[in-house]
Amino acid sequence: MNLLLFESNEIKSDGTVSLQDRRSAHIIKILGCKPGDTIRAGVINGPVGTGEILSIRGKGKNAEVVMRFSATDGQPEHPAVDLIIGLVRPIMLKRVLAQVTSLGVGRIFLINGNRVEKSFFNASLLKDENYRPYLVQGLEQAKYTRLPQVAIHKCFKPFIEDFIPTITGDYQRMLVAHPGGSADLKQRLESNIKGRTLFAVGPEGGWVDYEVEKFIEHSFVPVSLGRRVLRTDTAVVALLAQLMLLQGE
Ligand code: SAH
Repeated sequence: MNLLLFESNEIKSDGTVSLQDRRSAHIIKILGCKPGDTIRAGVINGPVGTGEILSIRGKGKNAEVVMRFSATDGQPEHPAVDLIIGLVRPIMLKRVLAQVTSLGVGRIFLINGNRVEKSFFNASLLKDENYRPYLVQGLEQAKYTRLPQVAIHKCFKPFIEDFIPTITGDYQRMLVAHPGGSADLKQRLESNIKGRTLFAVGPEGGWVDYEVEKFIEHSFVPVSLGRRVLRTDTAVVALLAQLMLLQGE
């Protein structure tokens, strides 16, 4: 945890925040804080700043830390990249959500596909309260406060035919990642590196030809990461890292 995060509704009217969970345990055990110390803290979807530890009461799991938060920076900007991901196994999804949140994405669309195991849509992880901790973990790691928005689309055809046209105007480029494609990201961006990007990364079994054709029909352009076929969780990280480098972030 490189940044201690809390919700805006945890700030009391006197400006203090009371923590009595894994965060207080972290402040005491890992950071070894004492009253009077300050730590980096931030409000989820709000500013970053400092937290002055006012008091530490109790021991172990039930220890309570009270701190006063002062904002120093403004609210961070929305990352300029969004992701479509063919739904993956819950265990992989946890990793993907935390990692892409650390790297910085604005919206994550989890979608169905021919090679998506349908039972994954019933996973309890897909409830907001269950996947949110993995997004927060990603923010804590990256010292960033803006949570990505997650949307779940259980049907591929309405997603690509009806929903995608409503958001196409938000993007400078839309790219479907598919192994063996002819052009890499550098070639796809050419000299036009600014603006928002939407990547579509396949599920563990990949996109079927019909899906790739549908993406192309709706203005997506295929992009390749080279001849090696990567796992979905590796491919998303590689794509985001390449884009960050090319866009000079
Ligand atoms: N057997 C599948 C592999 C899917 S890998 C297939 O051949 O399509 C899961 C997803 O990661 C892919 O659908 C794609 O979006 C992305 N991916 C993996 N390796 C890639 C590569 N070398 N180039 C572009 N995308 C890749």
